[in-house]
This record gives sequence, C-alpha cells and structure tokens, in this order.
Amino acid sequence: MQKLLFLQPVFHEKIWGGKKLKDHFNYSIPSDHTGECWAISAHQNGDCVIKNGAFKGEHLSKIYQKHPELFNHCKSPRFPLLTKILDANNDLSVQVHPDDNYALEHDNEFGKNECWYIIDCDTDATMIYGHHAKSKEELVQLIEENKWNHLIRQVKIKPGEFYYVPTGTIHALCKGTLVLETQQASDTTYRVYDYDRKDQHHQKRPLHIDKAIEVTTVPHKDFLIQKEVRMIKDSMITTFLKTPNFTVQKWDVKNEIKCEIDTFLLVSVLNGNGKFLDEPIQKGDHFIVTSINNEVFCQGNLELLVSSL
Ligand code: ZN
Repeated sequence: MQKLLFLQPVFHEKIWGGKKLKDHFNYSIPSDHTGECWAISAHQNGDCVIKNGAFKGEHLSKIYQKHPELFNHCKSPRFPLLTKILDANNDLSVQVHPDDNYALEHDNEFGKNECWYIIDCDTDATMIYGHHAKSKEELVQLIEENKWNHLIRQVKIKPGEFYYVPTGTIHALCKGTLVLETQQASDTTYRVYDYDRKDQHHQKRPLHIDKAIEVTTVPHKDFLIQKEVRMIKDSMITTFLKTPNFTVQKWDVKNEIKCEIDTFLLVSVLNGNGKFLDEPIQKGDHFIVTSINNEVFCQGNLELLVSSL
C-alpha cells in the first residue's frame, strides 16, 4: 500500500491575488492575480490529483472514500482538512466563519476553524484579527454606520508567526502577505466588508452581514499561541496548535529525523530539499503520509509544515 501521496495543487485566481506563488515556489500559475494554491484538498471546489504510485491520476476525494485504511479509518464522511497557500497581493475581504452547528443548519456545510503560518510578508504588513465592539449592539451599530476603522482590529505580523482563527473571529489577510493556511475542509465564509471594491464586471461581491453578526464572537477573544518545542538530535519540532479539529507543527529538519506517528499527516515543504521515506522532496511539494506508516524518517535540511487530526 502507498506510503506517500504526492498531490498536484489546484490554483484559484482572485481579485486580490498576485504572482508570489510563482516567484516563491516556482509553480506554474494561471495568471498574475493568482490568490490561492489548494495544496492538499479533496474539497469539491479544488480536488487535488495524486501524482505518484498506483493511485497516480486519481482524485484525493476518491482515494479517501475507497481506501480508509490509508487515513486511519477517519470517521469524517469527507476528507477533513485543507491546506492552502494564499498570496495576498491586495487586501482580502473582511470575513468570519460559522461553527459546525450554525453552518450545518444554514448552509449544509461544516464550519471552518483555520490557522495561518506566515511564510513571508512585507516589512510593515498587518492583518485583521478581531474587532473592538464590546457588545452585539455596538457591533451592529458600527457596521450599519460603516465605521470600519473603529470596528476592525489590525495587528502587525512577521514571517514565521502563527495565528489561530477560530470560528466567530473577524479576520482578513492584508496586502503583502504569503501564508500557509490549515483549515477544516469547508468553504463557508460570511463576508462582512469588501472595501467597497468592484470586480471586472463593475459588481460588488455579495456581503452576508446578518449571518456574520449572528456568528461573530463578541467581545473578541484573542487566542494566544503557546508553542511547544521538542528537539530530536539537531532537528526541532514546534507544535503551534492542538485543537479537536487539527494539530499543526513545524519541523525544522537538520540532517535527519526519525519519529513515530499514529495517524496520517499532511506535509508541505516550505524550504530546502531532501528525502522523506526515501522519496526525494523539495520546496513547494505537498504530500500525505498515509497511516500505514508507524514511523517516518526524513533526511536533508528542510522546513516542513505538518498537520494532522
Ligand atoms: Zn477565513
């Protein structure tokens, strides 16, 4: 059975996208306003094709259904996680995601917790994380009066930082940011504010103010990341986050690393090259380590973002 599933990313053009996915990772992107690389995904809006081995050419969604033994017999009816890389060449719309209960009731979709690892950003880059309203009434009032500068909370960001964006958090990436996003496999987004922009057909994108007000956490709760660091010889494993939905780690591999695993892993190569279970890997690769492996070993000098359930 297949130990690693390498995936072909799916690209999405966006009004806020750029060309950093090519400049940074050398991907062939469809245009100079490519916003999203769906790197590990079985979602219907971007279902990755497997690039290697016996399942070459198959969609991840199909292999997930047909071969539960590769995914630790995961109970989720659909592949539960989604890894994306986002190139915010311009500001993204300000948005909020619902939790599972709300999303299943209103949109027949799952909710969406997500988190961001800042791969690169401009020197003075910021993002929108939370808001300043102290009550629902104040939230509604500031939205109705278009007082976005009073409402939204802007924070400075730096490469290497990690942010958790739980459901109910108002958030947006701002221009000059390249981010790896790990999220629940869902596309449910309520757009709150889009800077009054118009698309190429002179249309504003739809807003979902009522739903957004219903699901926004008031007052905003900051989520402090408490990193756990473990050294294995010269290599370092940093655990950024452990939640019921996902765990996210960064592996800084020096020379080699060997460790036991108890489920399948989603791996993105942010930097360097080397070998993973004897398969060559390099910057920009994305793959799944299937759960038939009890142990993994990796050689080289590499920065890997690793997520799991
Ligand atoms: Zn989001």
